[in-house]
Amino acid sequence: MYKEARFAPGKPDTIEVGVMPCHGSKPYCSGCGKHRPGYDRLPERTFEFIPFWGFAVFLRYARRRVDCPACGVTAEFLPWAEGKHHLTTAYMQFLAHWARKLSWLEVSRSFHTSWDQVYRSVEWIVQWGLEHRVLGPIKAFGVDEIAYSRGHKYLTLVYQIEAGMVRLLWVGKERTVKTFEGFFTMLGQETCAGIEFVCSDMWRPYIRVIRERCSQAVHILDRFHIVAKMNDALDEVRAEEARELVRNGREPVLKKTRWCLLKRSENLTTPQKGRLKELLRYNLKSVRAYLLKEDFQQFWTYQSATWAGKFLDAWLLRLSLSQTYLSRMSRERPG
Ligand SMILES: [Zn+2]
Repeated sequence: MYKEARFAPGKPDTIEVGVMPCHGSKPYCSGCGKHRPGYDRLPERTFEFIPFWGFAVFLRYARRRVDCPACGVTAEFLPWAEGKHHLTTAYMQFLAHWARKLSWLEVSRSFHTSWDQVYRSVEWIVQWGLEHRVLGPIKAFGVDEIAYSRGHKYLTLVYQIEAGMVRLLWVGKERTVKTFEGFFTMLGQETCAGIEFVCSDMWRPYIRVIRERCSQAVHILDRFHIVAKMNDALDEVRAEEARELVRNGREPVLKKTRWCLLKRSENLTTPQKGRLKELLRYNLKSVRAYLLKEDFQQFWTYQSATWAGKFLDAWLLRLSLSQTYLSRMSRERPG
C-alpha cells in the first residue's frame, strides 16, 4: 500500500514514495515463504525504483521482522527487492535490459546511476538466469576482461559464441586463475567436455585455466588482442628510446612519431607517411620493432596451418636475433 509521494528533502530531482503494509496483513517469512506473525520493524530504508521524467524514484519502507517457528526471527519477504540489494528488482531488470544495448558506462550515465549499480544488475540477472535455465550443450565460448575504477579493477566475462546463440554466460570478479575456475565449476564437467572452441586474449591466467580445464578444445587467440599487445610493446620501445635520445642529448627524431608507428600503413595521412619514411632511415630500436610488427601482418594471410607455423618460427627467430643484437649493442655502447 502506498503512502504519500514527495520530493526528497534537499533533493529536488528525487521523488520518494512511502510504502506501508496493508492494514492487518501478515508478512511472509523470507526463509520459508510462509505467512507468519510479525515481530517488530526494522529501521526505514530506501529502494531505488525505475526513474521517470528525469526524477530518481525511491520507495521508502520499514521492513517487518517475522517470528517464524521454522526459521526463527527473519526479515519479511519483499516482492520488489531481494536480499540486501539497494535497487528494486524492477530497476535491476530495467538496467540489465539497457546494458544489452549500450555499454555499461553509457547506461549508468543515461540513467544517472553508478557503473557499479549497472554491473550489480547485470550480475544479478545473469545469476538469476543461471538458476532458472537449462544451460544445454555449449560448443564455443569466449572470455574477456573489462577494466573499471580507472583500470584498477577487473571483471571476467564469459560469452557463449555460436551461430544463433550469443549470450553472456557468466560474470566474475577479478581476472585471476581462481575467478576463471569458478566459471568451469559452474559449468560442470559434462558441459566442459563438450566444448570445442575457446576464444581468449593472451592473459596468462586464462590461458592456463583453459589448458587445464578444457584441454580438448581448440584455443583461439584473437587477432585484435594480439595486434593490441604488439602495439603496446612497440609503444613501450618507442617511448623508452625517445627518453634515451633526450638523455643523451641526441636529435629527438622520435618526437611525435607515435601514430606513424602504431597505425596500419594504409591508414596513415600523407604527412605521416613522409614522417615515417624519414624515420625509417635511422638505425633505431623503434624502427626495427616497427618492421617486425609490419612483417607480422603476413601471418594473417596464411590459409595453411603448416605455412603459418613456418612463418611464425622464422619471425620468432628474427625477433630473438634482434633482441640479442640489441642487448649486445647496449652492452658495448660506450658510456
Ligand atoms: Zn520461515
